Amino acid sequence: MEAKKWLREAAKYLLHGTLFAIVTDVFAIFWAFIFLFLAIIGSLLGIILGFVLLFVFMGFANSIVTGLLWFPVRKGFWIYLAQGFLLGIAIVVIELLPLLLFVSELTALDLTGRILLQIVLFILYAFIDGYLGKAIGGIWKEARVRAALGVSRLRPVPEFVPETKNPDGLRCPRCNGVRLVVETDRSAYCIDCRRGIHPSTWRATTS
Ligand SMILES: [Zn+2]
Repeated sequence: MEAKKWLREAAKYLLHGTLFAIVTDVFAIFWAFIFLFLAIIGSLLGIILGFVLLFVFMGFANSIVTGLLWFPVRKGFWIYLAQGFLLGIAIVVIELLPLLLFVSELTALDLTGRILLQIVLFILYAFIDGYLGKAIGGIWKEARVRAALGVSRLRPVPEFVPETKNPDGLRCPRCNGVRLVVETDRSAYCIDCRRGIHPSTWRATTS
């Protein structure tokens, strides 16, 4: 991949992750209120419902951002839920678990170190979120787009037509056509019949 195209892709992943973070932060405010309410009314069921809602929000946020930057994503509650669930698992495994491994080193950092770490992590995680978001959103890529792409790929390839090579003006014994490819041994191919002509068949038709 050329450098300019690579840079553009990288910038789009960064933008994807950043937009995803902004949209999920907005949803997180709503979600925190709903989650608190659900947790109060019924502890376990409320918490499960709260997580379902969180995944739906995440999937919805990723669908919006993927649609803006890459391709349209199919809509629907179950699609958002599945998308958010996969994203949530991937983010926990790739971004949160490694942090937990270094928790003692990280808490030992001074203020400058913490600020720097926050900046580095924000950029790094924006890339990762962008990459994951596009890959996971791609599972539910809008069918119309796929169909359109499929049609253009399946369009028949123009048929190969050989160039006429018939200096003696021979005629095809079957169709009497002159669009022939005659070889030096006088074997030939008729472009119109799409069939070969054996050298022994000439005598009957040529004058
Ligand atoms: Zn012919």
